[in-house]
Amino acid sequence: MAQIIDGKAVSAAIKEQVRDEIARDNIKAGLAVVIVGNDPASRVYVNNKKKACEFCGIKSFEYALPEETTMEQLLELIDTLNADKNVNGILVQLPLPKQLDEKAVIERISPKKDVDAFHETNVGKIMIGNYSFLPCTPAGCMELIHSTGVSVAGKECVVIGRSNIVGKPMAMLLLHENGTVTVCHSKTKNLAEVCRRADILVAAVGKPNFVTADMVKEGAVVIDVGINRLENGKLCGDVKFDEVSEKASFITPVPGGVGPMTIATLMKNTLTAAKIQNNE
Ligand code: NAD
Repeated sequence: MAQIIDGKAVSAAIKEQVRDEIARDNIKAGLAVVIVGNDPASRVYVNNKKKACEFCGIKSFEYALPEETTMEQLLELIDTLNADKNVNGILVQLPLPKQLDEKAVIERISPKKDVDAFHETNVGKIMIGNYSFLPCTPAGCMELIHSTGVSVAGKECVVIGRSNIVGKPMAMLLLHENGTVTVCHSKTKNLAEVCRRADILVAAVGKPNFVTADMVKEGAVVIDVGINRLENGKLCGDVKFDEVSEKASFITPVPGGVGPMTIATLMKNTLTAAKIQNNE
């Protein structure tokens, strides 16, 4: 039976470190969160980010824009936030309504304030291992892997999913720690066979209960990034927890695994951004 990796506890410790450093060194840090439209899930995420800021002593600035916001209006706000000395980090909650071009919006954020690490400049820096910010969700997964005491070096690591925000950067972070990394996606052949090679398996697919026990090696570390809402309203991950937990050595639950880590890394990135900008 696997040990459950407690993302709430690991994330709480990170937030406490951020809070303590901010208080100890009297650091002024601010995060602007921009939300466009009325997506209920986005609303929940934004509220959680606000609460985390309050806990850490980071000033949060929330901009809730209407669904029909135009590109011009959104870019104008980003320009204002880029120039605002009280704002060290800017986060635009995705997804955006259809009329808005997500890529162009991300590219408008100053790379120095891009605490999500989605800007091309920051993606490139991550690729070469010379970064200020790590992308929040993959960095959170790495912290959870570290919390198990299992070293990534030399391990077979399989990431299912190749999105720009989770799968690809996740693969890169595992590679930076000397894992032997395979990235699987919707066109991968013999997926179960590939996954069974993994000492460390990361699922970022967005399909409930997608990873079953027959896809998992005995003793693997299993990180479940998926957040899927079932018809009964309950949240579930990409991993069939009941059966996979019988086989894995460590496993993250959903909720309470990767989710809270994403926010903790965001707080860490905002502190990093503030320290860099306050020293300029
Ligand atoms: P996405 O839809 O952009 O990417 C999904 C990936 O899964 C794609 O690369 C696709 O190739 C792959 N895929 C789809 N079907 C597959 C199949 N049959 N076999 C193998 N691969 C397949 O999603 P995303 O943004 O990367 O998010 C993935 C999941 O992680 C979602 O459930 C999302 O809600 C969740 N998520 C959680 C957090 C968090 O904080 N915990 C953050 C971001 C995303």
